[in-house]
Amino acid sequence: MESLIGLVNRIQMACTSLGDYGATNNSFYSLWDQLPSVAVVGGQSSGKSSVLESIVGRDFLPRGSGIVTRRPLVLQLHKTDEGQKEYAEFGHLPRTPFTDFSLVRKEIQDETDRITGKTRQISPVPIHLSIYSPNVVNLTLIDLPGLTKVAVEEQPESVVRDIEDMVRSYVEKPDCIILAISPANQDIATSDAIKLSREVDSTGERTFGVLTKLDLMDKGTNALDVLEGRAYRLQQPWVGIVNRSQADINKNVDMIYARRKEREYFASSPDYGHLASKMGSEYLAKLLSKHLESVIRAKIPGIMSVINKSIDELESEMDHLGRPISDDAGAQLYTILELCRAFDKIFKEHLDGGRPGGDRIYGVFDNQLPAALRKLPFDRYLPIQNVRKIVSEADGYQPHLIAPEQGYRRLIEGALNYFRGPAEASVDAVHFVLKELVRKSVGECQELKRFPSLQSAIAAASYEALEKYREEGRKTVLRLVDMEANYLTVEFFRKLPQEVEKGGNPAATPAVDRYAEGHFRRIGLNVSSYINMVTDTLRNSIPKAVVYCQVKEAKQSLLNYFYTQIGKKEGKDLAELLDEDPTLMGKREQCAKSLQLYKKARDEIESVSLVR
Ligand code: GDP
Ligand code: MG
Repeated sequence: MESLIGLVNRIQMACTSLGDYGATNNSFYSLWDQLPSVAVVGGQSSGKSSVLESIVGRDFLPRGSGIVTRRPLVLQLHKTDEGQKEYAEFGHLPRTPFTDFSLVRKEIQDETDRITGKTRQISPVPIHLSIYSPNVVNLTLIDLPGLTKVAVEEQPESVVRDIEDMVRSYVEKPDCIILAISPANQDIATSDAIKLSREVDSTGERTFGVLTKLDLMDKGTNALDVLEGRAYRLQQPWVGIVNRSQADINKNVDMIYARRKEREYFASSPDYGHLASKMGSEYLAKLLSKHLESVIRAKIPGIMSVINKSIDELESEMDHLGRPISDDAGAQLYTILELCRAFDKIFKEHLDGGRPGGDRIYGVFDNQLPAALRKLPFDRYLPIQNVRKIVSEADGYQPHLIAPEQGYRRLIEGALNYFRGPAEASVDAVHFVLKELVRKSVGECQELKRFPSLQSAIAAASYEALEKYREEGRKTVLRLVDMEANYLTVEFFRKLPQEVEKGGNPAATPAVDRYAEGHFRRIGLNVSSYINMVTDTLRNSIPKAVVYCQVKEAKQSLLNYFYTQIGKKEGKDLAELLDEDPTLMGKREQCAKSLQLYKKARDEIESVSLVR
């Protein structure tokens, strides 16, 4: 029985540390909303503090005229074994037991001011206070600021409404048990507590009417109409109370003595004697405890489903954020390699298809290279004057007899130089496509997002590797061009038709000149068609070289060098590579903490609901 209410206390604590204040919470399912609580409601000076204190059996609540309670006080009573020392502990000061209850009162005041400032503002953020004592029953009570009718001192006009709204925000929850406190020496019809509780609990099923100050009633009158439920009907029984008077308080009358006096008051009262076993602070505490328990039992399935739902959500959030990394160097190395593989897989998908981008390499071979080759300015290189000049220079003092062997070579070698540009441009173009694909793949690798250091290390290693492949590619394509220059295709020249002087108009120009002009034009045309043949060859062989040196290498061994470097690293360097984005780390920590709290709450509820 007691463990059940103790459990509720723990869950409520967990809720508060999750930042869950019910009304203001929006990031988690509000457990708070699911849990029953007991709120003490009443007008100023109706005796709220006195009732709370007598249930607890200690003097510790701040008192004074005006609005003293400016934040809700969530008061959790934990019954401890007989003979145990009594102490209090605040939610905001864990592991700091208070044994001096006058210091508890001071801390409530200070903590109130910490949130509200020295102004007399009120705040809905509750103060959590646990009291461990052999003299209490397990109970969770919420002390709310007293309802007032007018603002006093420097309080803003809105304070009357503000307090009422805050109190209402607690008591309107269907799970809130209302302890409606009214003084017996005032007409029940004017009770603030009853007015508000009727508003939020019209059937009166969760309202406990508490009548204080029975001893202060006019001689000759009694409160039987109220206590027996005739004046104002509630489903729960009314409980009459006699607290200490102001004079008792001034004389430091102790609580135990006051309780005994209260018992005696009812036992000896001619009006209330027949109700004696159902009156007084102690009876009120027992009644509440019993009611609370039955309410909680009925709530357990609902609470469990809220907790399970939250746990599911937090678990999937954790999956999204990634699980924490182990400190072990072996595990870290494993994680790094896994992440590298994940990146590499995406990169390969870009090259092989499945993800876009690899087709741009084919675009280089299919469009860019042929277009560049077509644009080469051979027409400017092979006009007849230039052919004549180069051939003559190659001949030297002895003009060639039939075919200018050296002239051809010079002309062709000169023309081949033009191919270097497009060859290198293809290498560079593919290099930039590969680099872009690396950049894309790094960005698309979800698993890598948590590790900015590793992300940039992988990118840097990939770029470095691509740079090496580019150099290799460049050397290879230039070698292809050089190879064309060093050995000409003999077959081509053997197949050329022999020069035959065709009969032109002998009178027009001297025969020698006409012969020479036709001769050089033919040489030019032959060179040009030889170059065309070379163009065809290179258009096919440059892509092969580029793929061999760059694309294939990138696909097969982009991170090979990185792997050997990683293999040599010490634990500390590995941990550095797995440095996480601090905001992400914070998020995960928060998430893990919440998850732990919810799981703890679940375990506790399970253990309690199983053992009946
Ligand atoms: P709160 O403002 O609702 O918290 O009311 P308090 O508990 O501070 O009580 C206001 C004043 O009424 C104090 O001086 C109490 O001593 C006195 N008081 C409260 N209950 C009783 C009671 O049952 N009998 C007598 N004689 N005085 C009471
Ligand atoms: Mg008070």
